Amino acid sequence: MEDIAKLIDGFKQFQERYFGEESSLFTDLKCEQKPKTLVIGCSDSRVDPALLTGCDPGELFVVRNVANLVPPCEHDSSYHGVSAALEYAVCCLEVEHIIILGHSGCGGILALLEGTSQGTNSEYISKWVEIAGRARDIVKRHMADKPPHLQAEACEQISVLISLENLLTFPWLSERVEAGTLFLHGWYVDISTGNLFHYLPTSGRFELLV
Ligand SMILES: [Zn+2]
Repeated sequence: MEDIAKLIDGFKQFQERYFGEESSLFTDLKCEQKPKTLVIGCSDSRVDPALLTGCDPGELFVVRNVANLVPPCEHDSSYHGVSAALEYAVCCLEVEHIIILGHSGCGGILALLEGTSQGTNSEYISKWVEIAGRARDIVKRHMADKPPHLQAEACEQISVLISLENLLTFPWLSERVEAGTLFLHGWYVDISTGNLFHYLPTSGRFELLV
């Protein structure tokens, strides 16, 4: 229960910070949210988007899933959690930026590369990460002689680009990008060095941002 006690203590701090006498943040936030940015990040416990970017409640609309993936637009009767969140962020909240936040040491991408899900009998993971199957294929074709960590890094970064491409398959999203009211960003955080990179279309590479 120690782990849960720590969370409750953490909430007390949150309460003091945002609901204490000196804070008025939730005076407005309790009625509505107006985040300008949607972040699609990995479920990995080490890459919390709000913690990494120092954002307060209300600033980021966040979707987290295994390997920070965006599926392509599909019209069927399946349950589309990521697409629903995208639709809400873009069409209702009218966010101005979407960041795909990839990271080093991603277990989901490792599962994609190795065709396993780290000892689990994967019912869902392997199918889910197949969204980025093209990244794995590119790495296997062109980097087979490179060490595993470089293959993983390349696969993690190419996966970010695939998710950026998939974003544009949603018509209401690509319309806004073309109109210049919505901007897409590919970010990659290296959790072994603490460096943040962003994808530059002009160079076709992830360049150091911070
Ligand atoms: Zn991950």
